[in-house]
Amino acid sequence: MKIPFVDLKASYLTQKEEIDAAIKNVIDETEFINGKDIALFEKEFAQYCGSSYCLATNSGTSALFLALNALDIKQGDEVITTPHTFIATGEVITETGADIKFIDIDERTYNIDPRKLEPAITSKTKAIIAVHLYGYPCAMNAIVPIAKKYNLYVIEDCAQAHGAQYHGRTVPLGDIGCFSFYPAKNLGCFGDGGAVVFNDEKLKNSLISLRNHGRLPGQKYEHTNLGYNERMDSLQAAVLRVKLKALEQANEKRRILAQRYNAAFAHLEQEGKIILPYEESGVKPVYYVYTIRVKQRQSIMADLEKNGIPTQIYFPIPLHLQPAFAFLGLKKGSYPVAERIADEILSLPIYPELSVPQQDYIIAYLKKSLQQQV
Ligand SMILES: *Cc1c(COP(=O)(O)O)cnc(C)c1O
Repeated sequence: MKIPFVDLKASYLTQKEEIDAAIKNVIDETEFINGKDIALFEKEFAQYCGSSYCLATNSGTSALFLALNALDIKQGDEVITTPHTFIATGEVITETGADIKFIDIDERTYNIDPRKLEPAITSKTKAIIAVHLYGYPCAMNAIVPIAKKYNLYVIEDCAQAHGAQYHGRTVPLGDIGCFSFYPAKNLGCFGDGGAVVFNDEKLKNSLISLRNHGRLPGQKYEHTNLGYNERMDSLQAAVLRVKLKALEQANEKRRILAQRYNAAFAHLEQEGKIILPYEESGVKPVYYVYTIRVKQRQSIMADLEKNGIPTQIYFPIPLHLQPAFAFLGLKKGSYPVAERIADEILSLPIYPELSVPQQDYIIAYLKKSLQQQV
């Protein structure tokens, strides 16, 4: 068998007719920028997230960048985040001129460890970017009260967590949630796309303006502020509106696949050969990826690859050890949990179209490989 790591073609085929019609409609109307699908998608996605507002952007990275700018994060400020994330989370902080401050992660959830939050706060700290990595929500019940106590903004990187639930509420739960619709994400478009999701009406105009060359609603050739061009285009919104209707079911399929993996590997976890994803009661993750931890990762990856099973490492280098962040002067050993986990994590294929025979094949070969480990 040869199994793809993600199968965008299979996903497209499940909604082909509706997607093709939605794209054709945008072309027929030639409303490529700010077409009616933008406002409709924003309304529908805000509703899906249980939030008041959504503004569509041209990537997840620009959603994060706009969020920081709308909250007036700038030089002299500090923003706290996790070193165990995609580069974009850290990149945008530095690009505002603010200082980035990492705190180590929780060994079980792989998200920022809320016990490390309070000691890291200084008089310069303005915000926290909590990343719901792999679709598993951060410990928001601990993070939000600390942020309130010190008057900090909570920005959430929801790029891997569309629809993830935390004690009955859908993320985001803080000030601004930032989503990516990169094609492989739980909700993906046909190119780059993103969104900011929030409740505070006062943020709306500054986000609208920053996204669109500093124009306030109604302005065309007059610009009150300086901004950027970070709008989503109408074709992406049209595709997303169709795919959003299938998101709940798609996330449910991911959860069922995760449970099948968990059941199949439970005895190997007891033997200490593997660590499975953690799930706390009241938390409903959406399994953007299914990430295990193993000791002899290289040989297991090679065994699986040989048998047509691709795996990925999200992410092999923690941010503080990235060459791009060398200027921070953070050495190996600064964030020991993140570093150890980066050496052990391995993500297996998981997507709604992954069939039971395909999954059974992956299970059989991973079991075989693990049993051969000493
Ligand atoms: C995908 C991703 C982003 C960036 O999103 P883009 O749409 O690719 O710009 C940011 N953070 C995390 C955790 C991601 O997985």
